[in-house]
Amino acid sequence: MDTNTEVNFDGLGLAAPLLQAILETGYTTPTPIQAKAIPLALAGGDLMAGAQTGTGKTAAFALPVLQKLLPFASTSTSPAKHPIRALVLTPTRELAIQVEESVKVYAKHTPLSSLVVYGGVDIKTQTPQLKKGVEVLVATPGRLLDHIEQKTLSLSQVQILVLDEADRMLDMGFMPDLKRILALLPKQRQNMMFSATFSNDIKKLADEFLTNPTLIEVARSNASNENITQQAYSVSATSKQAFLVQLLKQAQTDQVIVFTKTKLTASRLARALQKENISADAIHGDKSQKERIEALDAFKAGKVMALVATDVAARGLDITDLPMVINYEIPSAPEDYVHRIGRTGRAGASGIAISLISEDEEKYFVEIEKLMKKTIVRQIAQVESSHSAGSRNTSTEDKKPRSTSASTHVSRPKRTTADAWFNKPYEPTAVIDKASTKTMTSQSRKTPVAALLGGLKQRS
Ligand code: AMP
Repeated sequence: MDTNTEVNFDGLGLAAPLLQAILETGYTTPTPIQAKAIPLALAGGDLMAGAQTGTGKTAAFALPVLQKLLPFASTSTSPAKHPIRALVLTPTRELAIQVEESVKVYAKHTPLSSLVVYGGVDIKTQTPQLKKGVEVLVATPGRLLDHIEQKTLSLSQVQILVLDEADRMLDMGFMPDLKRILALLPKQRQNMMFSATFSNDIKKLADEFLTNPTLIEVARSNASNENITQQAYSVSATSKQAFLVQLLKQAQTDQVIVFTKTKLTASRLARALQKENISADAIHGDKSQKERIEALDAFKAGKVMALVATDVAARGLDITDLPMVINYEIPSAPEDYVHRIGRTGRAGASGIAISLISEDEEKYFVEIEKLMKKTIVRQIAQVESSHSAGSRNTSTEDKKPRSTSASTHVSRPKRTTADAWFNKPYEPTAVIDKASTKTMTSQSRKTPVAALLGGLKQRS
């Protein structure tokens, strides 16, 4: 975890019960996003923060939210004393659960209560708790609207709105839901928006819902992480599965996330790996909440070696110390690659990110290299015969003599590699101050957002 050595939590203006909770959590130093966002959020203005999962962004909004609600904290059991005062919207159930767990931890020495509501579970189970009253509600947009329709909650007293992973919410088509929700909130409120990327759509969302927001951008700590070794293999589509089996069998690690583009591939691949005696499970949007939690828990407990995941399902998963990610399919949005590889090499640990690139996917990888400002040498995959038995068609390119067998490359990465640019930090296309802040007046708004946008391809 990239922390800010110049500032400590005591200097951020946080109240004693929150500082106590932080102390017990074991955090010693605020991360850059926390050091920037907490004082600004406490001052009461709107924020637009560029930060992805892994930067400590949850505490960056949760701590000031709780602090601002402290004057309203009540030990009364009357629901009227506990209206929803802060609303946090997230794109996925997993992220919603994780955010609310964090809120609970930070609020443990205060009488403030929180609740998470998300789809995929019986709505009736959420209603009794809502009726008791909660100050902080974390929700996915669809389920929140269900509750609003059923009149099981009221948003009339919301003072603070947080949009977490706003870019992903737009990607997932939540804009109409967001508009409906935002129309139900009191006009007078504080807004905080967190987004890993800044597309034109995000800028529009910010223009529409934020008032003179202060822009905070921290370096993409995951992408810039020198601890991540990136490797790329050229491999024919038909040999990918056999090569993956080989990689996993030879890997000197027992925890790997394997990324696919579709839910169908994720399911099929997990089953195929199981047939090869590799403990694997899939996590994607078609699985029930229970199945997803079980799969994640089994993975975290080390019972499952390979968790096959789609991009959406993997967002917000906080798995510390993940040694390896494999891109079984290359994402067409280069930012997704950044998110994927950011799953490894966290908290100072070293990690390895391996991409299996078929001929058709080469064009996506070129875009990724542009975004990363790096060229990643393609090694030619050599599928060993024992692993290629199940493969219907092993291309001749996979057998070239200069091929590199997976076994020599899957061991835990070393900090230094033969290629010097592996160790260079990621640089955004436009130069951005590492953790710069800037008030976005209508005049100044264009420049920083355009800078953040620089070179990023629009998502399709
Ligand atoms: P987030 O970006 O909010 O998902 O946080 C990523 C991880 O960093 C979580 O496991 C947090 O518990 C952890 N974390 C958040 N703030 C700090 C901090 N100041 N020091 C160390 N770890 C932190």
